[in-house]
Amino acid sequence: MKEKTKILIIEDDHYISKFVDVSLTKQKYDVLIGKNATEGLFLFSSYAPNIVILDLGLPDRDGMELISEIKNLSDTPVIVVSARGLEKEKIVALDAGAFDYITKPFHMGELLARIRVAERIMLKIRLASPQELIYHCDWLLVDFEKRLVFVNDNEIHLTPYEYKLLCIMIANRGKVLTYNYIVKELWGYEHGATENVRVFMSHLRRKIEQDLSEPRFILTEVGVGYRWNDA
Ligand code: CA
Repeated sequence: MKEKTKILIIEDDHYISKFVDVSLTKQKYDVLIGKNATEGLFLFSSYAPNIVILDLGLPDRDGMELISEIKNLSDTPVIVVSARGLEKEKIVALDAGAFDYITKPFHMGELLARIRVAERIMLKIRLASPQELIYHCDWLLVDFEKRLVFVNDNEIHLTPYEYKLLCIMIANRGKVLTYNYIVKELWGYEHGATENVRVFMSHLRRKIEQDLSEPRFILTEVGVGYRWNDA
């Protein structure tokens, strides 16, 4: 029998945690609830959940601190729940290592979709060979060993930065990457010109996407960054 995915909800709002608990249990998830940061961290270290849903506004501590503490302990994806209108908070959370975010008030279907993405990613990471040599999805094929990229079986030319950007996106598939994160990965410094990221991304899109008005792989997360989609 398939092992149930264990989900830890760290949320002080009773009504929300109860509602999420009932819905997730119905979907055959194992649910744990911590009603503040202290309890949440205790449950995290005691039960090693597969996914954490973290409210950023907690009574005893800033939820943001918990992201890095959880990251230090494991690779468990953390889905952050933030209040509407706090766009900056989302970006800080993603930069701190959150896997994804959802804004209150949210629909259960939306949360379930994010949980499924997190599950898929975790499964892929577990199944992937230590070093991925080939990436293939629809019309795109990347041969990492030979450093070649093909679109519909035709080899295309990417500049070194475009290729690096492509590798960063594929390595983090499914995850929202902030401009800051991409800048840091590409050039090694923390707060570079995000404008450059936009330029490289648009070049890359033009080379690998078939319909620029409806990108298959590189999705824009408005005001936040980009997400590689191969679901
Ligand atoms: Ca709260």
